[in-house]
Amino acid sequence: MLQKREKVLLLRTFQGRTLRIVREHYLRPSVACNSPLCPQPAACRNDGKLLSAEVTHYMIPDWKVVQDYLEVLEFPELKGIIFMQTACQAVQHQRGRRQYNKLRNLLKDARHDCVLFANEFQQHCYLPREKGEAMEKWQTRSIYSSAVWYYHHCEDRMPIVMVTEDEEAIRQYGSETEGVFAISFKNYLDNFWPDLKAAHELCDSILQSRRERESESQETHGKEYPEHLPLEVLEAGIKSGRYIQGILNVNKHRAQIEAFVRLQGASSKDSGLVSDILIHGTKARNRSIHGDVVVVELLPKNEWKGRTAALCENDSEDKASGESPSEPMPTGRVVGILQKNWRDYVVTFPSKEEVQSQGKNAQKILVTPWDYRIPKIRISTQQAEALQDFRVVVRIDTWETTSVYPNGHFVRVLGRIGDLEGEIATILVENSISVAPFSEAQMCEMPVNTPENPWKVSPKEEQERKDLRNTHLVFSIDPKGCEDVDDTLSVRTLSNGNLELGVHIADVTHFVAPNSYTDIEARTRATTYYLADRRYDMLPSVLSADLCSLLGGVDRYAVSILWELDKTSYEIKKVWYGRTIIRSAYKLFYEAAQELLDGNFDIVEDIPEFKALEEQSRQAKLEELVWAIGKLTDIARHVRTKRDRCGALELEGVEVRVQLDDKKNIHDLIPKQPLEVHETVAECMILANHWVAKKIWESFPHQALLRQHPPPHQEFFSELRECAKAKGFFIDTRSNKTLADSLDSANDPNDPLVNKLLRSMATQAMSNALYFSTGSCAEQEFHHYGLALDKYTHFTSPIRRYSDIVVHRLLMAAISKDKKMEIKENLFSNKDLEEICRHINNRNRAAQRAQKQSTELFQCMYFKDRDPDTEERCVADGVIYSIRTNGVLVFIPRFGIKGAAYLKNKDGLVISCGPENSSEWKAGSLHRSQNKVTSTTAGGQSVTFHLFDHVTVRISVQALRCHSDTIRLEIISNKPYMTPNTELCHQSSLLLKSELVKEVTRSVEEAQLAQEVKDKVLQEEYQEYCQTKGRSLYMLLEEIRDLALLDVSDSCAM
Ligand SMILES: [Zn+2]
Repeated sequence: MLQKREKVLLLRTFQGRTLRIVREHYLRPSVACNSPLCPQPAACRNDGKLLSAEVTHYMIPDWKVVQDYLEVLEFPELKGIIFMQTACQAVQHQRGRRQYNKLRNLLKDARHDCVLFANEFQQHCYLPREKGEAMEKWQTRSIYSSAVWYYHHCEDRMPIVMVTEDEEAIRQYGSETEGVFAISFKNYLDNFWPDLKAAHELCDSILQSRRERESESQETHGKEYPEHLPLEVLEAGIKSGRYIQGILNVNKHRAQIEAFVRLQGASSKDSGLVSDILIHGTKARNRSIHGDVVVVELLPKNEWKGRTAALCENDSEDKASGESPSEPMPTGRVVGILQKNWRDYVVTFPSKEEVQSQGKNAQKILVTPWDYRIPKIRISTQQAEALQDFRVVVRIDTWETTSVYPNGHFVRVLGRIGDLEGEIATILVENSISVAPFSEAQMCEMPVNTPENPWKVSPKEEQERKDLRNTHLVFSIDPKGCEDVDDTLSVRTLSNGNLELGVHIADVTHFVAPNSYTDIEARTRATTYYLADRRYDMLPSVLSADLCSLLGGVDRYAVSILWELDKTSYEIKKVWYGRTIIRSAYKLFYEAAQELLDGNFDIVEDIPEFKALEEQSRQAKLEELVWAIGKLTDIARHVRTKRDRCGALELEGVEVRVQLDDKKNIHDLIPKQPLEVHETVAECMILANHWVAKKIWESFPHQALLRQHPPPHQEFFSELRECAKAKGFFIDTRSNKTLADSLDSANDPNDPLVNKLLRSMATQAMSNALYFSTGSCAEQEFHHYGLALDKYTHFTSPIRRYSDIVVHRLLMAAISKDKKMEIKENLFSNKDLEEICRHINNRNRAAQRAQKQSTELFQCMYFKDRDPDTEERCVADGVIYSIRTNGVLVFIPRFGIKGAAYLKNKDGLVISCGPENSSEWKAGSLHRSQNKVTSTTAGGQSVTFHLFDHVTVRISVQALRCHSDTIRLEIISNKPYMTPNTELCHQSSLLLKSELVKEVTRSVEEAQLAQEVKDKVLQEEYQEYCQTKGRSLYMLLEEIRDLALLDVSDSCAM
């Protein structure tokens, strides 16, 4: 029986108006209680997430506690939390969508032990509001009475603690019902979680920041910023074209002055604007923060301004920022914010002296975010002095019109400034990468594989899978030391004389059930993160390095694709997809496979699988394997040629793999000339990805996950074309085919770097390859420009990429559909898949940024504390790859460093190069033309720098307290750097880079050791805060990008 009630809601809008809303409200005899103690689970229909059975009490937060302390309630240590519908609605109405979404995600997340109880739909819990009763009072009363009902519903077996900030409620309800308690939040933490230090600190910090805000709002201040316009006005304005919607992007190098709004949604089509909109100055930004979705009003044309074209601090990566000096561009001001995309920010507290200079209001401290694009934040804390040597995480709470800076609160300490672990933790937080150790719940889902209890192929799987163990010679080719083998290959002759090519991929989805803890964690991470000296896995190692890994000599589950090829033309006749059992015969490393391919059989000594064999069978086995590698290479060449004809690009941006020695130290990077066998493996993987893409798209045209690579914008190629012209080359960018061909021929026989730099520029001009759902994109947009394929996806690395896990599930569903079987797998709808793609794309960008930033960290640590005037390593050869008005951008091949070198300094003096590796600053002027810049001193000496000139640079480190250190480059001669004995070749430079990481880590370890001995107490104290655990150095770095030439942040991973 349903009973109807009317509920009157008074909503306060952001502008302070009050809206009266009447809602019909149906009461039910039972709603899901989601408790394992429920006496009638069927009646309650508890079919969702249940509370844990292992708690001593349930905790029910009052509406105000949910509003103010949600961050603390998010601690996974807090268990048995019941969120009342009344409290959730209060959050929704008073805290807005963002906070409400956080709450909803928390409720959905299986890792958090909390549930929703829809108390207002429960007929015995629902309490009408009394005449004259304040909303707040009614909410608290409602929650308390529901808590009492819940207690009795669970047959008085589980005590309930209602946590409220309402002192009157504590007095009134505290002892009203046996077994239902009412206490304050602070009291609750003190009594139940005395050891959860981080939660206590966060709670104090939130409390203090709230008190300060309250007292402040009573003071009257002058307004610093105009009010934001009401949402209705903004929406109407966007519709009519008066306002423009977009994402605020602050220019890192001129954060105080320049921000751009990148047009979004309908605005990009309707406004007639092609460029971004400039937001000049922080006033015009009107409290919006980098990343926010803002609404902009254009200023009249006579107020438009131009962007700055001069070289700035460490300015080496901006796309297309070298040209168009200060031409006025559309300029506007922010009139409202549609979505605040605030995150956790790493900040540095001011030093003691600076605190003193901040003066009277010593409790409110201005802290400086590590990210230049984020404004300073005011933090209320008494710990400022204790925090001054640490990297600290804070959150922003509000930004009032009366305040120059936003207000925030302290969250936690990461580590000491300049300390490797603290700086790495900073990089992780800044990229929103969370890599806590895998949870116990997740580990419980893992299959067992121990010497006493070895994992075995199950009879059931044996029946359902195609068994390739005795019919197929399967083997893997990977970098030396690789543990997580995603992919294996096979090739054989069929009885009809045709060939059969096989690609066999780790069957990760057999072990990872949809929506299991492992699945959710993997989805959240989305990828394995590779930093310069470590990696963070997407899956626990029992899967990634063991049961999923297609190691040699053991039975493994795989998902296979088998193609039947014509014996001579290699034309594909048939294809089969399905689950298999394989036993890889050889786990080869690239160099060994290449040697075999080249007919150098001495390498057999290095292949352990051959060692065990007797001479006679060894010969036969060897011949078999050599035939297979040769055949594969032949097929791959054929497939590659076909793609080349369509214009596949070879860019400077392919993965470089790291070799590890027995102790997991980086031994070497793959040599400068890629081996053909790399291409063989890559081509087979591309083929598999392509065929899977076609298959899942055919089966699920509106909900398949594919990967697109949009064609680049022609205007981004202008710098590439100009640079090539300087060397007399013509780059034809009309199509991927012409681009590929003209890049191939743009080769300076005297300087191989020219071609590499041009390819790197082409990479920079490219768009990023992205995952997308086929339901949200027209078919002609599916195209993969770089690979010249109409459809592409990622299928071959499910151990390391979540996209591949989604694709495996799609493929399995497609096969069962073919067999007219019921599709049991939970497939994502187009809308959900779109959301997941956005998340994965975002995480991939974060992974690339983190990798780049960690490498820069190591580079700085390598050069820090060296005397650049005396140390040999600080002087190196560099190539000029871009000309700016006050300097040049230089690439240093030896260390893979890109950076700016000034030709004019801050005092307006210009560079003058002497005969012996020395330069001076003198009065004079700079003259820049298309491909060169000339510095002329007042005395008449002049020096000219051309594009692609080799120069000698001195490398030093600019230490910054609040931000990451940066490399500084200084040109000391306009001539190439001559090393005393040898010329520099690419290979030695790569070797040096791995040495660099090694050396920095070693010295960090030594320093750490000394520190530990010296002040152990301090060390312990801060270890407690330290987020990353264990310095597992040189963990498998199986896949790292070459940092020498590609700027990882902008390159397009194929
Ligand atoms: Zn129940």
